[in-house]
Amino acid sequence: MAKVVVAGGGAAGMMAAVRAAERGHDVTLLEQNEKLGKKVYITGKGRCNLTNGCDTEDIFAQFQSNPRFLYSSIYTFDNYRVMDFFKEHGLKLKEERGGRIFPVSDHASDVIRTLSQYLKQLRVEVCLQTKLISVKTKDGRVTEAEAIAYPGKEKKTWPVDGLILAGGGCSYPQTGSDGNQFALCQKLGHTVTPLRPALVPFNTKEDYIPQMMGLSLKNVTLTIFDGKKRLYEEFGEMLFTHFGVSGPLVLSASSKVRECTPQRPLTAQIDLKPALDQEKLDRRLQRMISEGANKQFKNLLSGLLPAKMLPVVISLSGIDPEKKGNAITKEERAGLLKLLKAFPFTITGTRGFAEAIITKGGISVKEVDPSTMESKIIQGLYFAGEMLDIDALTGGFNLQAAWSTGYLAGECV
Ligand SMILES: Cc1cc2nc3c(=O)[nH]c(=O)nc-3n(C[C@H](O)[C@H](O)[C@H](O)COP(=O)(O)OP(=O)(O)OC[C@H]3O[C@@H](n4cnc5c(N)ncnc54)[C@H](O)[C@@H]3O)c2cc1C
Repeated sequence: MAKVVVAGGGAAGMMAAVRAAERGHDVTLLEQNEKLGKKVYITGKGRCNLTNGCDTEDIFAQFQSNPRFLYSSIYTFDNYRVMDFFKEHGLKLKEERGGRIFPVSDHASDVIRTLSQYLKQLRVEVCLQTKLISVKTKDGRVTEAEAIAYPGKEKKTWPVDGLILAGGGCSYPQTGSDGNQFALCQKLGHTVTPLRPALVPFNTKEDYIPQMMGLSLKNVTLTIFDGKKRLYEEFGEMLFTHFGVSGPLVLSASSKVRECTPQRPLTAQIDLKPALDQEKLDRRLQRMISEGANKQFKNLLSGLLPAKMLPVVISLSGIDPEKKGNAITKEERAGLLKLLKAFPFTITGTRGFAEAIITKGGISVKEVDPSTMESKIIQGLYFAGEMLDIDALTGGFNLQAAWSTGYLAGECV
């Protein structure tokens, strides 16, 4: 029986502790918060989209960084085994749109309760308000974990045969995933690839974007360019906010495009009418204009666009709002058509970690054995979850990676 410490009581750490204890090890789970799984509570808007019901081989395409690194862990504990695990421990599950799996209760707390109860049953020692602060090694092997226990701030040490680090990324730091374990890993000789927010809204440049704050667009196509190069194009839903844009299309775009700044921005356009090609939309505009020949331009477009967008489109079209329909020129109509098919804006950056669903970057996977999750640098040191340089799109895939890497680390420690 080995002495195992798991640092981080999130999704990956809880699963790692479960598996290590199932294998008969003496396991201590350290969590700096006052409770386990604080981030899991807020996943899936409090409902926890804990995995996806897709074919297992389709999971890898959802990962934007290092999908091959995950082959062993995901095939060891795949999405169907995750579902079986939770069902066997009394949690009923259901599948929703896009294969998203949720607890039938719609309560993320039930996912945590299921894991907490099983940890208790397995006699895992859970130390809350206890933060790992240093790791000792000897001859390239991990030997001791040192933590600080709040509120008295007393220090505690554990001699260890195995240490699993599962401190999460940097996003939503108020949940405890504040990136503090990266410094520990760097001290141990590990490389941390550049960290940046992903699945995160964009800041935009133009003043007219916040004017449409609160407006959600459904069935539009968002395209993002780096100069002339098309980086992203997808159909779906997005939202205007007081700082820029958000919503499903924008979040997935943020995981796929390069980093941008006000000095190195990206340009974007929205096809507001993707179901109509240029010709069809032009015919529709001609009809609207001829039917409203005596109406002012500002009153012509109401059937075509949401009310919040009308003043912006009218202003950007450059057409005098008082102008009568029958006075609108062919060139003006062409300009309007272009605006509807390619409504433009500029992306100057992303929002910060506080608003990012996940973190891109992390422990370089080159230094981790994908078939065990063990460090290639320090023996007995393992990694699990979002602190690794892996990140997926939404749909339950990030939690799947946490369960799978946690399980494999617990299996191999
Ligand atoms: C708003 C939001 C919604 C999301 N919704 C979904 C979803 O529906 N489906 C999905 O698949 N993914 C979702 N995600 C992503 C998912 O929550 C994460 O990818 C996942 O929780 C990562 O698990 P983890 O165990 O690696 O890290 P975390 O769950 O972040 O856990 C890390 C834990 O380690 C603790 N810790 C850190 N340092 C120390 C230390 N030194 N000592 C002791 N403890 C420490 C932290 O307090 C924390 O509890 C969502 C994320 C957010 C922010």
